[in-house]
Amino acid sequence: MSTERNRTNDMALRERAKSVIPNGMYGHQNAAILPSNFPQFFAKGEGSHLWDVDGNEYIDYICAYGPIVLGYQHPGVDRAIADAQDVGDCMNGPSEKMVELAELLVDITPWADWAWFAKNGTDATVYAASVARTSTGKGTILRAHNAYHGAAPTWITAGDMTQQADGTLEYEFNDLASVRSAIDAAEGDAAAIIVSAFRHDVGLDQEMPTVEFAQGVRDLCDANNIPLILDDVRGGFRLDLAGSWAPLGVDPDLSIYCKAIGNGQPISALMGRDSLSEAVAKTFATGSYWFTAAPMAAAYATITTLQETDGIARMDRIGNALRDGWQQVADSHGVGIRQTGPVSIPLMLFDGDDFSTRDVPRAYRFAAELADRGVYLHPVHNGFLSTALDDNDVAHTLEASDEAFAVVASEFGD
Ligand code: PMP
Repeated sequence: MSTERNRTNDMALRERAKSVIPNGMYGHQNAAILPSNFPQFFAKGEGSHLWDVDGNEYIDYICAYGPIVLGYQHPGVDRAIADAQDVGDCMNGPSEKMVELAELLVDITPWADWAWFAKNGTDATVYAASVARTSTGKGTILRAHNAYHGAAPTWITAGDMTQQADGTLEYEFNDLASVRSAIDAAEGDAAAIIVSAFRHDVGLDQEMPTVEFAQGVRDLCDANNIPLILDDVRGGFRLDLAGSWAPLGVDPDLSIYCKAIGNGQPISALMGRDSLSEAVAKTFATGSYWFTAAPMAAAYATITTLQETDGIARMDRIGNALRDGWQQVADSHGVGIRQTGPVSIPLMLFDGDDFSTRDVPRAYRFAAELADRGVYLHPVHNGFLSTALDDNDVAHTLEASDEAFAVVASEFGD
């Protein structure tokens, strides 16, 4: 398989960026933290494929870090966006699309009575914490150690991901006793428990919640009369259309969607129960672009397309084929791997690597070899599947992986 890749345009853009953008790039899409052959800049996406600014093509397993759930340039979503933009997108108030979308979300989410919209996941997690504080009159939000809910002062201090914010106390995911201890440590000031749909801390094996844990936090919220907040930003619309904890039979009081909800259009949603409507009324928040029509139309089209095409089952089928294939190929080269979490949000880590010391050479080598062969998979962050991926993509990926595992086996030979 050819590994010749031109990188001239990407390098030139990185140089230009350095003089007008702080450090050339920032945030989770900063390619400086990726293997050195990963592109920073992209030119085009179509279906399950992406092209960088040098015309190199990739089968995409990151999907813009989650938003692209139906594939790039999905005709139905793009038509909905264009139709909305043709008649008015950013106006003095929302279009009827807002009501239609809220009706659809409430309809597919049995426990929820209302939906509230913003732009990014962080807008909605921060607002959910504020609503919980307003409704309870308490201040402390209990959150899992290392769980990501957004880079905002509600969750972290001064942009330092290792510093938990004042007003939060930590528990360990899937450890009910630690949640009880955190409630005790709050000394009567607990305002809410926030949970991730599953544990997806970067660089660690993913972990699904146990039913016992999910039911246990639900019971603790009820016993303490505080809301249970489900942060479904990452899992939403890839696990279950009724919300990622629906299969566990545990309902939250507030839940947050972003990423996959609008197939790449900027929109997030907070959903909640009637009992929290009054707290919403008392907790002011707004944004210049929170009410634009096109992202709402895109979200409506995305969700209905997922419903009509059984999109989650499609992603599960492709995800299982990938997971089985990767395991087989890794075994054939004697490379030890661990694949964890939902198959539609895949993560493969390598035995012998250790993320706690940032010592992950096998994962970086594997991802770099895949990128050279036209497969874009992050070395240590979970991937995201789209419904646009097909059997040819999987076949090419496994062929490339066979060669990449061979490189890992010969380089690390352990
Ligand atoms: N919560 C979770 C679970 C997330 O994965 C993310 C984003 N990666 C956020 C919150 C924050 O979302 P956003 O980046 O859209 O603000």
